[in-house]
Formats: sequence, C-alpha cells, structure tokens
Amino acid sequence: MGLTGIQILKLLPKKNCKECGDPTCLAFAMKLAQGKAELAKCPYVSEEAKAELAEASAPPIRGVVLGTGDNQLKIGEELVLFRHDKTFVNAPAIAVLFKDSETDAAIDAKLKNFNDISFERVGYLLKAHLAAVKNDSGDAGKFTALVEKVKNATKKPIMIMSDNLDALAKGAALLKGLKAVVYCATEANLDKVVAIAKDNECSLVLKASIEKAEALTAKIVGAGVKDIILDTEARSAKAMFQDNVFIRRAALKQKNRNLGYPTIVFPCEMTTDPIKETVLAALAIAKYAGIIVISDAKPEILLPLGIQRLNIYTDPQRPMVVEQGIYPINNPDENSQVIVTTNFALTYFIVAAVVEASRVPTWLVIMDVEGMSVLTAWSAGKFVADAIAPFIKKSGISDKVKHREVIIPGYVAQISGELQEELGDEWQVVIGTREAADIPAFLKGRQGK
Ligand code: SF4
Repeated sequence: MGLTGIQILKLLPKKNCKECGDPTCLAFAMKLAQGKAELAKCPYVSEEAKAELAEASAPPIRGVVLGTGDNQLKIGEELVLFRHDKTFVNAPAIAVLFKDSETDAAIDAKLKNFNDISFERVGYLLKAHLAAVKNDSGDAGKFTALVEKVKNATKKPIMIMSDNLDALAKGAALLKGLKAVVYCATEANLDKVVAIAKDNECSLVLKASIEKAEALTAKIVGAGVKDIILDTEARSAKAMFQDNVFIRRAALKQKNRNLGYPTIVFPCEMTTDPIKETVLAALAIAKYAGIIVISDAKPEILLPLGIQRLNIYTDPQRPMVVEQGIYPINNPDENSQVIVTTNFALTYFIVAAVVEASRVPTWLVIMDVEGMSVLTAWSAGKFVADAIAPFIKKSGISDKVKHREVIIPGYVAQISGELQEELGDEWQVVIGTREAADIPAFLKGRQGK
C-alpha cells in the first residue's frame, strides 16, 4: 500500500518493450501505483519483484474472509480513517452468540432469528452474518454437539470459542473447509491454537492487549497463519473505542503491519440491557470493528444496526443504482400501464414498493442516468425529452405492451410536450404523480382506461 510509481519502477525490468500496453515501464509503474493496471501484464517481472510488490501493495489492514458460498464475507482491508476521506470498504460482520449453557429452546429461538430475520433496504439485505458458538458450559461434548447443530442449521460462517483446546480442535475439525474462525489464541496457548487453525484452514482470533498483540501477531504469521483477528480484551465502551481507534491509526498512519488486522468486539459481554448492547454495537460499527458479537438477532436490534452498517459502509462517492431495464411488477401483461423513471436506487425501490402495494400490474421502465434522482437528472440534462424518447423506443417496452402510453414522473411535467414531440404521434405521454405515495390511487384510477 502506498508505493509510489518511482518505487514500483525500481522493481520493474525497465525494458520499455511496450508489451504491457504502456509505452514505458515508468508509465506502467504509474498506473500500478494508481491501481489502474495489473502487474501480470508485464511478462518480465521476476518472482522476487512480484513477491516484494505483492507484500508492499498489500492493504494496511489484512482482509480476512469468513465462510464460504453465498454467505461468505470479508472484513478488514480498510484504507482510511474517515469515511469522508474516501470510503470504508468491508462492512463488519454482525455475529450472534450461541452458548452451550443455553437451553435447547433458547438456542432454537436464536437460530430462527439468526437465519430468518432480515430487512431489505434499497436492494441490500440487512441480516446477521456469523454464528459465534461458545463453550460456556465447560463440557466438550456439549460444545461439539452445539457446533454440529449450528453447522447443520445455517450456511453462514461460524466462529468457535473455547478455552478447552481439545474441544476447540474437535469443533474446528467439524468445520474444516468452511473458513471458520477459531477463538482464541492467547500468549499461553499460541502454538496449539495456531496449529488448530492451520490444520483446519480457519482464521484465528488473538486475544491479547495491544502491547502484547504486536509481538504475537508476528509470531502467528511466522507459524503460517495470516488470517488474524484481534480481540484486545476491551469490555467497556471507552476501552473498545480507544483500542479500535488506536489499531486503525497504527495500521494506517504508522504503517504498523503487526497491528494491521480487523478487530472483534463483544457488546454482548458488556451489558445485559439490550438497548445498551445495541448502542455499543452501533459504536463499534462506527469505529472500526470487524466482527461485532451480539446476544440475539432480534428484529429491534438488527434493524438499527443493519441500517447504521449500510449507511456508514455505502460509498459516498458512488450513487446507489439499479440496472437499466424493464421491471415487471404484479405480473403485468400487454395491457398494463408503463411508468418510466430513473435508476437512482432509492427512487426505484420507493416506486417499486408503492406500485407493488397498489396490486396494479405495471411495467416499470428504468433509465440509466448515473444514479441520479428524477429532478437532479433533469437539471443535469440526463432525464430530458431527447434522452428519454430514444431510450423508450429502444427499451423493448413496445414488444411487451400493445398500447403506447408512458407515464412520466410529475416532477418533470414540464418536459411532457417536448417528449411527446420526440416520441411522435404513436405515443401518448401521461403526466404521473409528484409524490410516490400518490401512485397507487393514480394507477387504480387509470385502470381499464
Ligand atoms: S512489459 Fe514490462 S518491461 Fe515491457 S514496458 Fe511494460 S513494464 Fe516495462
């Protein structure tokens, strides 16, 4: 991370042969420094230089992959201290704690919440991501039975937690190949837990103070495990905040590789009050945690945390968009009404939701205006008559309906005349509502016309 073009140039072959597609090695090096080229394009880079560049260009905070398949997620790889500097990259995993001291009924209820509770917001699913299975009873048999039960009940990633190394090894073996997390290595058991993680292809949580973690992470990496997550033993809001900020600053500003790892925090161990737990988890989302362990994925906890996570980890420089295209809502047919609007995700999801609620079969034709809302796109000259008309004609909506009526948002009523001209006599432009909330009544009023 942070190598300049000149530093990269020193590692290139300097043949200026142009085979990478750039006129000189310097031009290629400058592109590499900006992340606009791939090293593989130069066929002459030595293995040593490749290794050195890979190491030097690694993110200051290591990315750790949790789980496999559709539920896999990555934490870490953050590049900035503040979201307004650029963007945060990988949102933290919300983990739910399952203790083998809990009753079967309690575990079943929590598993149901863990798997089933989710909320859709602008195309994103807000949900819990990781099951943390803890050997709270001290009984190895109970622990492995719970690991097995959770493994069979979910496809989401799993973290196993035990002080009993035999139990930990058995649990890890049950999850081999699933990119599970092993909790935890300490100064006292380091070699054994590293071996468990290595044998079972797991990432590993190191539980140690920041001062000790610096030396211990180097030891763990030396032993062959690179996917490390840090638990600094902070169990208060102040300590959690301070440690997370210290680690992020050390990794980004002091380039301290030994602290360049995502962190895990435990709001579930800091309070028994669910409201305080939610506030602590929200603080952890805002300030740099990689995994946040809560006691249950209840809707009233998951919704605010999910929205906070979504808001903070949405790239402020990239508008949220949906793909341009024709979206059928409520099983439309050739007689159904046609609404055209922009591909700003919020616009799409609001309009789609109210149309769906109206139960009126409708074709929603979404135009790519680089993710702008209707009025912004209009004022930017992107959602205007001479852009909308060719889009409608080419969109394919003519093949789906036998009528030629298109409803435009009420906010751009002023373009209706010009759009009518651009579309020609075959089409009829209808001015829709200004507010999405009025769409159902509007559509119902037009049904059968
Ligand atoms: S292919 Fe490699 S050696 Fe040739 S110009 Fe590009 S960077 Fe230089």
